[in-house]
Amino acid sequence: MNLYNGKLLWAEENQEPPFARSEILDHYDVIIVGGGISGALCAYSLAAEGLSVAVIDRGTVGGGSTSANMGLLQYSSDIMLHELIEQIGRDKAIRFYKLCQQALNQLHEIADTLDVSAEFTRRNSLYFASERSHVDRLKKEYDLLTAHGFKVDYWTQDDLLSYYPFSKPAALITYRDAEVNPVRLSRGILHKLNGRHVHIFEHVHVTGIEETVHHLKVHTSAGLFQCSQVIFATGYDTAPGLTGTRMNLTRSYAIATEPVDDLSCWKDRVLIWETRRPYLYLRTTPDGRIIAGGLDEDKPGTPHSDAFIHKRAENIKQEVHQLFPMLNLKIAFAWAAVFGQSVDSLPFIGRHPSKERIYYLLGYGGNGTVYSMVGAHILRDLIMGRPNPDADIVKLARGIDSTE
Ligand SMILES: Cc1cc2nc3c(=O)[nH]c(=O)nc-3n(C[C@H](O)[C@H](O)[C@H](O)COP(=O)(O)OP(=O)(O)OC[C@H]3O[C@@H](n4cnc5c(N)ncnc54)[C@H](O)[C@@H]3O)c2cc1C
Repeated sequence: MNLYNGKLLWAEENQEPPFARSEILDHYDVIIVGGGISGALCAYSLAAEGLSVAVIDRGTVGGGSTSANMGLLQYSSDIMLHELIEQIGRDKAIRFYKLCQQALNQLHEIADTLDVSAEFTRRNSLYFASERSHVDRLKKEYDLLTAHGFKVDYWTQDDLLSYYPFSKPAALITYRDAEVNPVRLSRGILHKLNGRHVHIFEHVHVTGIEETVHHLKVHTSAGLFQCSQVIFATGYDTAPGLTGTRMNLTRSYAIATEPVDDLSCWKDRVLIWETRRPYLYLRTTPDGRIIAGGLDEDKPGTPHSDAFIHKRAENIKQEVHQLFPMLNLKIAFAWAAVFGQSVDSLPFIGRHPSKERIYYLLGYGGNGTVYSMVGAHILRDLIMGRPNPDADIVKLARGIDSTE
């Protein structure tokens, strides 16, 4: 599947040499199919257990949807906490939000261990009510988050106007979210691990899995690999053995501007998003660019025409301009990408319903990176044979049917 078209910011920035390829071992404890952020975080948590791991990607590490990612890391999901409570119950919903909050801390710790800077920076988030009719939902969310120990402020229209140059009916400020360069994070993790317990194989296509009594045979374009367990971290691409009956692939657009001289109008360089669906979301970069995305369309695939992508990019720029009219915005990068969202807004993480040795980490949703971190720990526990009470919240069987 063509995951994106256009000119991507992170891909342009990360023109690094390929990973040195290791000799293929006779046997790996775990083979991870997919070297995006999900595969990298799984490799990290499994290597920490002393397991031997091969990460196999048919392209380059971080070259899938991870390079289309805008790099906002937030514990709040596309589905508000009070809506998630209605969907899965109070205990599970609160636990899921707490897991996402912990995942932000874990991502921070990992980013700090790397030899390269993944540009991980703590930011607060500003979540504004797009319309007056959304204010009650924000108030309800504020009450609930506060009651469960999340640090959050509720701002009226006047509060907001005293800090930012745009007027919206109300907003929530949530604390200690973060921004990151997702490609540097993925590649930095795997560079750190490569050659130790972990072997990286770029430009190798996994074509099939065969189960034998003692191990799994993984057929690839570079020959046969053998292992005890397989994790599919294949992103929005087809995950073999499953059909997604409760997820939708849509298309989304994003821009990165040329660096802006003066961002003093953007207090604390908060991550900004809104209650409208699909939402506009935006952030700044360390070199002063603005990245903004949105305008999701319920259409499969990505448009091939640069002219079409630029038309959408101009629309996003206009939306940013309405928020910050004093900024002189010039589009430097514009891309369209496939975006995957489960119907219940939760990721699919866990063991195949009937195949003991096959696992999936499919972090569908706007919080994909945070979900990948949550999933890396859940899968580590399942593979190590440890109980993980949170696995039930995101298990596959709730929404994906097995086909084999
Ligand atoms: C426009 C856009 C903006 C986004 N913004 C954010 C954001 O701000 N914050 C956030 O948290 N998330 C965001 N996301 C979501 C985020 O990008 C995804 O959750 C994340 O990239 C998924 O990572 P992954 O490793 O699971 O998948 P990928 O990065 O797609 O990696 C999967 C890898 O599997 C490989 N692969 C697939 N099949 C095979 C095979 N058979 N053999 C070998 N290799 C294979 C592919 O080559 C690919 O490299 C955004 C997504 C889009 C599209």
